[in-house]
Amino acid sequence: MEGFDALHELLKTLVMVRGQVLKNVGEKFSLQGSMPATRSHLAVKSMPDLPLLTEEERSVYEWQMWVPGVGEEGQRKLKAASVFVSRVGGLGGVVALELAAAGVGRLVLAHAGCLKPGDLNRQLLQTHEHIGLPRMESIVRRLRELNPRCEVIGIAENVNDENAERLVGEADVIMSAAPMFQERLALNAAAFRARKPMVECAMHTLEATVTTFVPGHTGCLACYVPEVPPTWKRQFPVFGAVSGTAACIGAMEVIKLITGVGEPLAGTLLSMDLGSMRFRHVRLPKRPGCPVCG
Ligand SMILES: [Zn+2]
Repeated sequence: MEGFDALHELLKTLVMVRGQVLKNVGEKFSLQGSMPATRSHLAVKSMPDLPLLTEEERSVYEWQMWVPGVGEEGQRKLKAASVFVSRVGGLGGVVALELAAAGVGRLVLAHAGCLKPGDLNRQLLQTHEHIGLPRMESIVRRLRELNPRCEVIGIAENVNDENAERLVGEADVIMSAAPMFQERLALNAAAFRARKPMVECAMHTLEATVTTFVPGHTGCLACYVPEVPPTWKRQFPVFGAVSGTAACIGAMEVIKLITGVGEPLAGTLLSMDLGSMRFRHVRLPKRPGCPVCG
């Protein structure tokens, strides 16, 4: 499969892939075979080893603990879990917000640089007064304000080939939310080496995609984007509501991986066109010979 020169080209190509490999558009891809292993991947702790909930935590999280299959055990799994988020902007910022609200015990967040006016249409953890100041300060402060029970670690770095392994080592689940393919591919390779699941979210104009890569059970990002697309730029057209949609779905993928509730999009790409409101499932087969996961 040849490389793509932009994310929207990826989306278009995946539409072509869908035409070739997905017989039933919109039909849920069966996860039989992969799901038990997906669940067991994060079932690293048995009930006695999971941290206990305080009475305050029970009252804070009771609405989600009422969700069938979550309960006390699911919430304790969330409390025991750590998630790494690569870039905490329009996409990763909303992911972090949802995961902090849900009671994930430890969030490790990486994003370098200072806030620019052009960030404010989608980076919901930022404020107008913070323009010109380091993004991470505002990110950490606002997440702690939302949930002081959540351990928030802010790292003012972007992922690269040198730091990816160290950053991936900080968490159980990896969230890929960077605008640059260099960062996404470095993160993908490190996550696969560490055999950690990675939720991959992306958006462009009115379109967004979400999938989950699980080492040993699915392909990886490099199966579809084997190298950095030469013409891809950091800045692209998007509404905050589009990146936020992808983010909320991505956060739900993380929550499902941790709690075992529901079925993650392992081996399936959710492709969303918010212009037409058409949502589709596209099967993502592993690419034979992929240098990362093959
Ligand atoms: Zn691969």
